Amino acid sequence: MIKQNLQNVKSDLNEILLKLGKPADAVKLLAVTKTQTIEIINTAITAGGVYIAENKVQDASLKIPHLAVQPTEFHFIGKLQSNKINKLLALKPNLIHTIDKLSTAEKLNNALQKNGRIQEVLIQVNTSDEEQKNGVAPQDLLELVRSIAILPNLKIKGLMTVSILSDDESKIRFCFAKLRKLFKAIEEEKIKNVDMKYLSMGMSGDYKIAIEEGANIIRLGSIIFGKRVYK
Ligand SMILES: *Cc1c(COP(=O)(O)O)cnc(C)c1O
Repeated sequence: MIKQNLQNVKSDLNEILLKLGKPADAVKLLAVTKTQTIEIINTAITAGGVYIAENKVQDASLKIPHLAVQPTEFHFIGKLQSNKINKLLALKPNLIHTIDKLSTAEKLNNALQKNGRIQEVLIQVNTSDEEQKNGVAPQDLLELVRSIAILPNLKIKGLMTVSILSDDESKIRFCFAKLRKLFKAIEEEKIKNVDMKYLSMGMSGDYKIAIEEGANIIRLGSIIFGKRVYK
């Protein structure tokens, strides 16, 4: 079933990209494997063409090192607590999507400095103005980017958002369009040590809209693995 779901998603993805006149590899597909078992993650990796994303450091460290085949890329997409930074770094994430505070960025930078490593990160933006959502407020984004850009062991590679929880497509599209505009605006600032490359937006319910609005990383869970069961 997972293999079939993945095939369906990939063919949808190809269709959208073709329609937009973009190359077939224009979008990175992340399989969000939170709550999924090692066996299931192995199935997704061997099916091919996906990267792996987890949102909890603890869960990720119980699974990622024990996979039969290591994923080509591992992405962290959850809230990063400072007491979990070293544990996350041990997993060598290719990209951390969720930096939204200078204090976390500084702690991450310090930990990286001790290991002499550079970490690519995205800045998470709250585009929906929902109080419970993580992410920096749009009006505070530029200042945060400028402060993080000074930290030598972090490399900003773009922006990430989670859209509004709504059935109204225009409200969802508005969130994604907002992130794209912020992305462009920061790009135009040409800030040293900032390389605006990735727009991480779009989940199972809204990835088509996200790609139309310029996403080049999408994060898909339930459409690949079925409805999640939380223990
Ligand atoms: C769980 C999660 C996803 C995937 O959600 P689905 O709706 O199952 O595709 C994507 N991004 C983040 C940040 C998540 O926490």
